[in-house]
Amino acid sequence: MAGEPQADCLFCKIVTGDIPATIVRETDTTVAFRDINPQAPTHVLVIPKVHYPDAAALAAADPQAMVDVLREAGVVAAEEKIDGHGYRIVFNTGAGAGQTVWHAHAHVLGGRGLEWPPG
Ligand code: AMP
Ligand code: ZN
Repeated sequence: MAGEPQADCLFCKIVTGDIPATIVRETDTTVAFRDINPQAPTHVLVIPKVHYPDAAALAAADPQAMVDVLREAGVVAAEEKIDGHGYRIVFNTGAGAGQTVWHAHAHVLGGRGLEWPPG
């Protein structure tokens, strides 16, 4: 069924606790945890507990869950104190854009200069 956990999905396993992660926040619908390979002083991933392969699929199927992810990204940024300077929310979508995990996730990046346009 759409949104159901996938047995072979790394982030579904982080949701269930089968794979450990450094969790910084959890709500009824989301989990936020530190990226294992940080690209900035603050690099947190915010994921919905439901499984969809990317951000657009999530938004189409479960808009409230997408809003929850975005709200939590903002709360993480405030708690990490990167909201004053500014931070970036990134949804890599597709292999050519660097997506490697096929469970929708927001990267929350900050704590350093953030060039625009990104690479
Ligand atoms: P993306 O490349 O946009 O699909 O993002 C996937 C992110 O997940 C990468 O930044 C990885 O460093 C991160 N990642 C992969 N495995 C783990 C893990 N076990 N715990 C935390 N972050 C992870
Ligand atoms: Zn998943």
